[in-house]
Amino acid sequence: MPGRLQYKSALITGAGSGIGLESSLLFAQEGANVLLVDINLAAAERGVTLIRDRFPEVRALAFRADVGLEADVKAAVDLAVKEFGRLDIMFNNAGIMHPNDDNALNTEERIWDLTMTINVKGVWWGCKYAILAMRQNPVDEIKGLRSGGSIINTASFVAIMGAATPQLAYTASKGAVLAMTRELAMVHAREGIRVNSICPGPLKTPLLMDFLNTPEKRERRLVHLPMGRFGEAVEVAKGALFLGSDDSSYVTGTDFKVDGGLTSCYVTPV
Ligand code: NAD
Repeated sequence: MPGRLQYKSALITGAGSGIGLESSLLFAQEGANVLLVDINLAAAERGVTLIRDRFPEVRALAFRADVGLEADVKAAVDLAVKEFGRLDIMFNNAGIMHPNDDNALNTEERIWDLTMTINVKGVWWGCKYAILAMRQNPVDEIKGLRSGGSIINTASFVAIMGAATPQLAYTASKGAVLAMTRELAMVHAREGIRVNSICPGPLKTPLLMDFLNTPEKRERRLVHLPMGRFGEAVEVAKGALFLGSDDSSYVTGTDFKVDGGLTSCYVTPV
């Protein structure tokens, strides 16, 4: 059975952990060559080892980059194109939720700026260099490869709903990701470049669990989750696989929610 991403090449940021790692494994399982990009090179390399052990038929490489630095992001995209010949899927997934991010009164400007640099500018740089690379993609009718490509930007459910447990910089950054994604989707639609956001609900990954470090903090959230549980990173990776594959060939500009029903919920079931 050919994989859903056979012959495609993907670059995933934040690939050393959580959603990025699960997506790297899933994309490789579906036949893609994958460049795993992370500020933590050792974590990305662990991902590469897992892929080489499980899916030796595809290529996987690790690269250290800070997505908040334009030169790093450009170097990562250049490497993907050099090694794999083209870039079909760009998953701008890296993001931070700083422990000192708070409300309008208590959030320090440096926390705001750091969050915006990684979560917003990082996505912008990723989109910019992916668009430039995807414009060069040749059509290969034998392999079923098209020109253009798919860009996926990780936002969050907090871009859509308010929380009385504030992380103001993070929330504002994710709202910016949604707005930026929609506009890019419109600007590049006729070039065959699709741009979508993915909005995860609260997940059992280090990013959130380090933040919700007491049973009380976790319970404060769990009561609002219709399914009564946090999501798993692999459940978001499956959404990213859909957006990255040709199965979503008529999907662009969407805020694709993988949130267990959270953003549709008024009262949770008992
Ligand atoms: P995670 O902490 O498990 O993984 C994030 C990865 O990003 C880490 O490997 C980290 O080293 C890397 N990273 C951090 N800063 C970076 C930088 N400047 N450059 C390159 N890499 C960097 O997190 P996760 O839960 O998998 O989150 C991934 C994305 O999903 C983030 O954008 C996050 O905001 C978003 N998200 C997470 C949740 C959740 O509940 N976990 C919910 C909604 C949205």
